Amino acid sequence: MENTQSSFGFRFDNTFSRELDGLYAHWKGDEVAHASMVKLNKQLAKELGLDIEALDSEQGAQIFAGAKAPQGAEPLAQAYAGHQFGGFAPSLGDGRALLIGEIVDQNKQRRDIYLKGSGRTPFSRGGDGKAAIGPVLREYLVSEAMHALGVPTTRALAAVTTGQKIMRNGFEPGAVLTRIAASHIRVGTFQYFAARQENGKVKRLADYAIKRHFPEVEESESKYLGLLRAVIDRQTALVAKWVSIGFVHGVMNTDNTTISGETIDYGPCAFMDAYDPAACYSSIDRYGRYAYANQPHVLVWNLSRFAETLIPLIDEEDQGKSFRLAGDEVTKIPAQYNFYWLAEMRPKLGLSNTQDDDRALIENLLKIIDGNSIDFTQLFRNLADAARGNADKLNAMFADTAQIESWLATWFTRLKHEKVDLQQVADKMDKVNPIYIPRNHLVEEALAAATNDLDFEQFHKLLEVLTNPFNQRGDWQKYDGPAPKAFGEYITYCGT
Ligand code: AMP
Ligand code: MG
Repeated sequence: MENTQSSFGFRFDNTFSRELDGLYAHWKGDEVAHASMVKLNKQLAKELGLDIEALDSEQGAQIFAGAKAPQGAEPLAQAYAGHQFGGFAPSLGDGRALLIGEIVDQNKQRRDIYLKGSGRTPFSRGGDGKAAIGPVLREYLVSEAMHALGVPTTRALAAVTTGQKIMRNGFEPGAVLTRIAASHIRVGTFQYFAARQENGKVKRLADYAIKRHFPEVEESESKYLGLLRAVIDRQTALVAKWVSIGFVHGVMNTDNTTISGETIDYGPCAFMDAYDPAACYSSIDRYGRYAYANQPHVLVWNLSRFAETLIPLIDEEDQGKSFRLAGDEVTKIPAQYNFYWLAEMRPKLGLSNTQDDDRALIENLLKIIDGNSIDFTQLFRNLADAARGNADKLNAMFADTAQIESWLATWFTRLKHEKVDLQQVADKMDKVNPIYIPRNHLVEEALAAATNDLDFEQFHKLLEVLTNPFNQRGDWQKYDGPAPKAFGEYITYCGT
């Protein structure tokens, strides 16, 4: 990685590097054969105050490949550990990624600039430090789709190919993703130092996380308990959002659980077509640990691991008390999750005020669709149409319409408590229920063209559709439905 004399608009202010010595290794990206820009997210680049013209160039591609560093960058690989599928891995870390630096964006938010696939680091273990074009574009598509759906997430700033072939399923084109995040501090970052009983470092990290993400906690009586509460709150709200849109993260390991509450590390993730609580697509998740309906339970598990790392800090004099206080917070998570889940689901059914039976109404709908191959995304748009007086598409989803008709009658009675008429209810529903989500068959099609032929046309088209998820377009019909039967059962793979 060679330093350039130009900043490209990056005005770095690298607090992690400056303040957290000992929690990372300074490192550099590999040289690349021929970096070529696949996609630069110009809107995001603008938000970050970057020099778009300068970056949309061969030099820009070199920067996003990790081969050149813009002025002021201080690339480093972060240390972290993590529970992977329940087993503790004490030493993971950025094995193929670099934090290039931080900038404060136009909204005064501090953001990490981070490269994934830029070469081996001291944390690479047996890995090659690289990323293949398919997974890079998958993360690009899905993270940008999530953002458009209003879900807290890391963002994609750029995707480049490196001109190298890397070994995956045979040789595949190498690529690098530039990712933007509120930070890359993970539950696993805390675990790395907690497991080594380096409590001084855990404390420095906790103080840093508070200052960066939760400054309001600084004033509270027990700030580390405040940190725990704040992270629980963000993560719980996040998982409720995932569940409300049918998203399955796929690898909810603690190293993929952020302190900021942003979705991170889109590996074997997928949106379900048909509603199925057991939906699980990852080839290595043989027992369905990270299945769709298990996500709220894994959330509690992951946050318990976070709580454990803070016990030495909460009450340094009285560890028994620390343990009890942290335990109390963890115990409250399921109720908090239920609160957020209801808050997400209500507007999906056009419910803007609160009635006692709302939860039962929603749960009854889910019971009716369970096991009936009902497309989860289309269901809510078809319900809005039913509210407009046209239940044809809704009825066509069911072999036997008796149950849904009876449910509709209850829903219509409930909607009388709304202050607006049914047409307005339906219009409001359409603003929160997407038409276009990253359908697995479409994502796979786009990635296959990119991998096999370096043909990015489908990727660009799909990205355009996914970043406009709520407004129906006549010429986008191909994008609005589930996979054809011939697509078969969907399986995703790790090791990207
Ligand atoms: P992930 O499954 O992508 O969340 O990664 C889990 C761990 O494996 C992290 O420490 C990664 O940095 C590391 N890792 C994943 N792929 C590679 C690779 N190709 N080379 C080196 N390390 C990797
Ligand atoms: Mg990860």
